[in-house]
Amino acid sequence: MKVPLLDLKPQYLSLKKELDEALLKVAESQYFILGPEVDAMEKEMREFLGAKFAYGVSSGTDALLLSLMALGIGEGDEVLLPTFSFFATAGVVSRLNAIPVFIDSDPVTFNIDAAKAKEKITAKTKAIIPVHLYGQSADMDAVMKLANEHNLFVVEDGAQAISTRYSNGRCVGTIGHIGCYSFFPSKNLGCFGDGGLVVTNDEEIAYRLKITRVHGGDPKYYHKVIGGNFRIDAIQAAILRVKLPHLNSWSAKRRVNAALYNSFFVASGLAEGTGKTEFNNANKVLLPAAVFEKLQADIPNYHIYNQYIIRVEKRDALREYLAKKEIATEIYYPVAFHNQECFKDVPSAKDSYPVSDALSATVIALPIFPELTEEQIKFVVDMIAEFFMS
Ligand SMILES: *Cc1c(COP(=O)(O)O)cnc(C)c1O
Repeated sequence: MKVPLLDLKPQYLSLKKELDEALLKVAESQYFILGPEVDAMEKEMREFLGAKFAYGVSSGTDALLLSLMALGIGEGDEVLLPTFSFFATAGVVSRLNAIPVFIDSDPVTFNIDAAKAKEKITAKTKAIIPVHLYGQSADMDAVMKLANEHNLFVVEDGAQAISTRYSNGRCVGTIGHIGCYSFFPSKNLGCFGDGGLVVTNDEEIAYRLKITRVHGGDPKYYHKVIGGNFRIDAIQAAILRVKLPHLNSWSAKRRVNAALYNSFFVASGLAEGTGKTEFNNANKVLLPAAVFEKLQADIPNYHIYNQYIIRVEKRDALREYLAKKEIATEIYYPVAFHNQECFKDVPSAKDSYPVSDALSATVIALPIFPELTEEQIKFVVDMIAEFFMS
């Protein structure tokens, strides 16, 4: 049985008429960049996310870059961020000649360990970027407390977490100073190309985001600050407006799929607890934290499973075995920032990161997209069980 990691076709087919009409409407309007579709999308996003201001941008990466620019982060400023994340989280910091300061991960949520972030604060620290990895909120109480104590800006990287809720019921991205999202097609809410969004509740920051998105001009051709072209296309906004009303049901379906995986793993006897950095038994699978939700009452957030991640000691051999069974998997991410060639001169790269190193060596993403069938999920778990018996 073939199980792809992600299949976007069924979602498209389920909304084909509306999506095709949205595309045609933009073609007929010949209004391609920003404009009425983007305004309407931003309004719907503000309402959906519970944010005062929202601006559509060119990608999730640009959302992060624009945010740091709008906050005036630049040469020599230090920015705390998890060493275990997608490249963009750290890349944008270095592109502004600021200094990424890598932080080890929490072994349960795989997100930034705020206690370890605290140890690395200096007089130059200006901001912290918590990432809500795989669709699960970082510990925002701890992050906000640290930020308040040390007067840091908080830029949330919610690229994998649009509609994820934190324990206080708020959407992640609306808790810090700025929230960033990505509409890359493989995210929970994807458009037909690149796209992103920034949100804030602060009027002054909102103004800076808004003008920096259009080369810093206000009015046009009168440049207050040096910005860039961070605009989103009308076509992407039109697609997002069709899809947004379905996002909650897609995320709910991902959660159902995650629960199915969890129960099949538990039934198979393969499941071991979570939050370990060392395996007691190389033939066991560490499940995502949420399976032990009841035991982990301190992590009561709404995980939207952009990825369903298990940890396996013999990860690479398992991956090969599954590939032979036509089950696609992926490694998010095989190399943490402190081990990346391009960051070898970053001072914090020489520090030790035992949790992130363990994660890079053992995580594996299984297919989790909403349209996956129970039969496919059962097959994946059966094949993993077969691998451990072979
Ligand atoms: C996808 C992603 C980004 C970048 O988004 P793009 O739209 O691909 O530029 C940034 N951070 C994280 C954690 C991501 O997963």
